[in-house]
Amino acid sequence: MSKKKKYRGHFCWCCGRTRPNEKFSGRGHSRHICKECQKLGKEEIAFRQHQRNIDRLLCWDGRIRRKSRHVFLRYLNHTNERVRGYAEMVKAHNEQLRQEDREIYLAQQEDEERIMAMCEEWENDQEPDDDDDDNPLDDSDLEEIPF
Ligand SMILES: [Zn+2]
Repeated sequence: MSKKKKYRGHFCWCCGRTRPNEKFSGRGHSRHICKECQKLGKEEIAFRQHQRNIDRLLCWDGRIRRKSRHVFLRYLNHTNERVRGYAEMVKAHNEQLRQEDREIYLAQQEDEERIMAMCEEWENDQEPDDDDDDNPLDDSDLEEIPF
C-alpha cells in the first residue's frame, strides 16, 4: 500500500479555502490561487491581496495594532481606490471603537466623581468646615520654622 496521503490539498489565500490539487493550475499552484479565484481577474486578486495585508495589521477585533499604525497609514494614500476605500472603512471602524472606549471611560469617570462627591458631602456633615483663612503663613512665618 502506498503511503501517499489520501486527501491532498492546497491552500488558496484568495478565498481562504484548502482545495484539491486539481482546482489549481500549474501557475495557480505557485501563486497559491485556485482556478476559481484566478477567474476573478488581476485587479480583483490584487485588491484581495492588499485587503489581506491590511487585515494582517489588525487585531482579532479589528483594531489596528499600535506597532502597525505607520504601515496602515500608507494604505490610506494607496493608488488603488478600492484599497483606499477599504483602509478608510477600517479606520472608521477603529474610530468608532475608540469613541466607545471614550464613552465607557467617561461613564466610569462620572461614577467616580459622583462617589467622591457623596463622600465629601458625608465628610462635611461629620465635621464643620473651618478652612476659612486661606493661607495662615506669610514669609516671616516661614523664616521662623526650624528645619
Ligand atoms: Zn480560491
